[in-house]
Amino acid sequence: MPFSSLGLSPALVRAAAELGFVTPTPIQAQAIPAILRGADVQGCAQTGSGKTAAFALPILQRLQAGPHQQPRRTRALILVPTRELAAQVGEVMRRLAQPLAGSPRLKVAVVFGGVSINPQMMQLRGGADVVVATPGRLLDLVQQNAVRLSSVEMLVLDEADRLLDLGFTEELHRVLWLVPPKRQSLFFSATFPPAVQELADALLRDPLRVDVPATPANEPAIAQRVIQVDEKRRTELLRHLITGNHWERVLVFVATRYAAQHVAWKLHQAGIFASPFHGDMSQGARQQVLTEFKNGQWDVLVTTDLASRGIDIEQLAVVVNYDLPRSAVDYVHRIGRTGRAGASGMAVSFVTAGSEAHFRLIEKRQDLSLPREQVVGFEPIESEAAAGAPTSAPAGTGGIKGKRPSKKDKLRAAAARMPKT
Ligand code: AMP
Repeated sequence: MPFSSLGLSPALVRAAAELGFVTPTPIQAQAIPAILRGADVQGCAQTGSGKTAAFALPILQRLQAGPHQQPRRTRALILVPTRELAAQVGEVMRRLAQPLAGSPRLKVAVVFGGVSINPQMMQLRGGADVVVATPGRLLDLVQQNAVRLSSVEMLVLDEADRLLDLGFTEELHRVLWLVPPKRQSLFFSATFPPAVQELADALLRDPLRVDVPATPANEPAIAQRVIQVDEKRRTELLRHLITGNHWERVLVFVATRYAAQHVAWKLHQAGIFASPFHGDMSQGARQQVLTEFKNGQWDVLVTTDLASRGIDIEQLAVVVNYDLPRSAVDYVHRIGRTGRAGASGMAVSFVTAGSEAHFRLIEKRQDLSLPREQVVGFEPIESEAAAGAPTSAPAGTGGIKGKRPSKKDKLRAAAARMPKT
């Protein structure tokens, strides 16, 4: 089924084709006609499903159809959890909007915290048709009278589960007071735990539910491998695998910022182009590293869970769990960085005697059972029994969730207290 059959204008179909989008992904096929009709949408889709274009294309079409006014009024607001995702969504929006005719052209502003507010205020001068924002910085800009939300007709919450995870409940609540109640709302989330569903119910009116199940047709082809290794030999094994297999574009996940620095440095010393990427780095440094990685200047990025969601890197060949993720959901997000939009990818998890039990828990929650491999010369000598505490999570992962109320549980309780709009 081509994009043209979804009700999109020929100009937008061409703009999509220029980005290489010729056949709609399942979420696009279902959501685009509904959004064009003006319906609310609740979308639950796997990472890499193409959800950005699923909302960007119909929003741009609806904006083009509307009246052009000066100064511009912000008619579409897209809320995202992270700076990286804001930049990425803004980029897709701009690239799709660029070839469209019309005078004046649609303007997309991207705002996020962690950088100076002044250039963003300049960017918003004269208004913007679309604002892509993280909630905290958006509220700062509203306070400074740099943007007004009273004309918003379309509101998107992207990665809503992450917005709540990151503690944005309060900010979301305040933004919702500022946008008109009569609007179209689009709600996307990879997971729908009770707090997220509660928020969706409060926001959406009679939504079309688009649930794209992971079927072999749309499930990214990710080969999942589990390699047993002694904890102390993981860096050496990583080096061996990267050089031996000539891996390029590798994302390595570790548990802490210190480990990100340390492992990247060790790889670097061994002649591998590896860079750390974590929250202690300035926003400017992070963006630079990401751009350089995307351009192929770095072969390996060693990162914390900062990079596990939202970041879209084309042709990311391998994801390595050097340290295991805390939860099964985080595991899915991490490995979802590879095998995006139909490409094949590989996810390698290092399992040590101390983390074997934790990995079994992840497998159980994901209904998986993966064979254990050993690499010649790196066969583990530590035993699970000697490593102790069979049900505890490995050091640095922060423990298994669920023993006492987590931050997420508290946020869930807070979200449940939110008034319905
Ligand atoms: P998203 O889930 O929006 O982050 O998109 C994941 C990846 O899929 C991105 O690299 C997009 O460029 C790509 N993509 C989105 N829609 C399509 C499509 N219809 N055909 C091919 N690739 C797509």
